[in-house]
Amino acid sequence: MTLLEIADRPSPNHARRGEPARIDMLVLHYTGMANAAAALDRLCDPAARVSAHYLVEENGTIWQLVSDERRAFHAGRSCWAGENDLNHVSIGIEIVNPGHEWGYRPFPEEQMTAVERLCHELISRYSIPSHRIVGHSDVAPDRKSDPGELFDWPGLARAGIGLWPQPAPDLVRSRGRGVGVVERAAALADLARIGYCVTVGEEAVALAAFQRRFRPERWDGRLDAETALRLAEVRAACDHARQG
Ligand SMILES: [Zn+2]
Repeated sequence: MTLLEIADRPSPNHARRGEPARIDMLVLHYTGMANAAAALDRLCDPAARVSAHYLVEENGTIWQLVSDERRAFHAGRSCWAGENDLNHVSIGIEIVNPGHEWGYRPFPEEQMTAVERLCHELISRYSIPSHRIVGHSDVAPDRKSDPGELFDWPGLARAGIGLWPQPAPDLVRSRGRGVGVVERAAALADLARIGYCVTVGEEAVALAAFQRRFRPERWDGRLDAETALRLAEVRAACDHARQG
């Protein structure tokens, strides 16, 4: 195995994971700041009370800010598969990108290669299942939109990281159609089964997060037939991953 080169930049922003300590989730973020130096400064500023375990620069440089055994402050108020406050159980990876506020742009290849290598290392170290590799917006859909619709989830999945089932041809044929009441109930059940925490009356928030990740052409939060079909595909992939 090739050893990953990881530089240290210790952040003071961490705490105990709690008992029993477990790590079985990866949460991917973008930094959403003007550049890597600004992001590193903030993630290491005791007054900011934010951090992550790792940061990956656009040139592929990887920094460790908080040791894996400690709880880093990256996900904030968050929920997945009925569990809240995911900092206790997750590793947070910040991926440098200016984000929607500062000029969102594609993630360079060198950076994605480094993200891939880091994820592989962590997945094998902690046996992290693919249905628990998520974006920040998946676990905090009402507050967050990172790593965003330009993030290459399909590419990561091809490298064996996370879920991204290949869309079936039916998906495109369903474009523009609406859904009935029965289909809607089934689709929302799929959304929850995948792991999204859905608030009654605010289903559009979780739906938009799902779309941003799994149908990034449009994330309007509307449950159209295309979204319903995609939900069924992803739910099936999730069920398969849980059995494996
Ligand atoms: Zn984030």
